[in-house]
Amino acid sequence: MSILIKDVKIVDARKAVEGDIYIEENRIAEVGEVKGKKDDIVIDGKGKAVIPGLVNTHTHAAMVLFRSYADDMPLMEWLEKKIWPLEAKLKPDDIYHGTKLACLEMIKSGTTAFNDMYFEVESIAKAVEEMGMRACISSAFFDFFDKQRLEESLKKVEDDLKKLRKFKNVIPAVGPHAPYTVSLDGLKASMELAEKYDALVHFHLAETKGEIEEFKKKYGKGIVEALNEIGFLNERLIAAHCVWLSEEEIRLMAEKNVNVSHCPASNMKLCVGSALNYSAMKKYSLNVTLGTDSAASNNNLDMFEEMKFATLLQKYHYSAPTLMNAAEIFEIATLNGAKALGIKAGLIESGYLADLVMIDLKKPYFTPGHNLIADIVYSAKGDCVDTVIIDGKVVMEGGKVEGEEKIMEEAREAALDLISR
Ligand SMILES: [Zn+2]
Repeated sequence: MSILIKDVKIVDARKAVEGDIYIEENRIAEVGEVKGKKDDIVIDGKGKAVIPGLVNTHTHAAMVLFRSYADDMPLMEWLEKKIWPLEAKLKPDDIYHGTKLACLEMIKSGTTAFNDMYFEVESIAKAVEEMGMRACISSAFFDFFDKQRLEESLKKVEDDLKKLRKFKNVIPAVGPHAPYTVSLDGLKASMELAEKYDALVHFHLAETKGEIEEFKKKYGKGIVEALNEIGFLNERLIAAHCVWLSEEEIRLMAEKNVNVSHCPASNMKLCVGSALNYSAMKKYSLNVTLGTDSAASNNNLDMFEEMKFATLLQKYHYSAPTLMNAAEIFEIATLNGAKALGIKAGLIESGYLADLVMIDLKKPYFTPGHNLIADIVYSAKGDCVDTVIIDGKVVMEGGKVEGEEKIMEEAREAALDLISR
């Protein structure tokens, strides 16, 4: 099946041109003036723009079920009193319905791939596949510094990695939760498993100052130094948050090709107390990407909003209006995210995956249209998304995803049932 998008504005991190995009199978075959063939699916791009699909590099998709369930609380209290007790009651079916709702929300706001960390990976993968999305799915675990618990967790994670390999468009990953819930032995073993199964590692790092101080007290050294010593730092790692790193730690992470997922909305809402040191990350060419974190701490999965938050937070925190300009955050949300997931996407060029988002420019917030990238970052909302193509297949057309009412209803039912348990 081939798709021809005609007469459209084409915008990615490298260019802004007008023309046609030709998709064959799951890849972009041609960009420019394209003739096409008789039985192509033709999409009229007039009054629209195509951008690479946005890549959300840190979320816990199924947590949409907890959206607006507990807000306005400090992180640890929020986790211990509200989130973890509810999570203990989750069933695989809840996670399936929650993930479907999250996928729906992400597709409708222009995200084509995401990096998830949660439990019941088969339920997640099934939802992702049914929704036609692309995702890196990590099997999350906590060992709470207990040897036996670690052994059991690793067995489960290894099983999960084998299961995940069977799903199309799913990138398997290991998900050791954080340095305050997983031992160094657990982290070392996580990376070894990832290497054995050619998987990624998804981890929370340096989210709060307390976590950094506690680590130093316990191990007598800095967290990044310790991670480096156990061979945990390499290109397989996607480390979420990273707001409390020193410049030297940033330099080392860049040298080791680690990927950082910046989650500004969640960081601001939970008041983690600092902003990403983007200037240093840029100086050392550390791969910075963008994530929404879960809808329990955001409270949505709209990457358009997240782009704006990221750049505003930089400017505000460092009193520097020139920091992280619109073009930079657009690249972070597209190309850098794809790089972190190890997929050839994020640019609209021949040979790249056909993970594309067509946005409708007939919106008040795109008018008069002096600068499209600035409009996308500072002015647009996720509801500008008209058509979404993932892996060469149309998953949303004319602002609608097939079966969306049912997906929302089933997730609502699952959430209400969960709370009443
Ligand atoms: Zn998180």
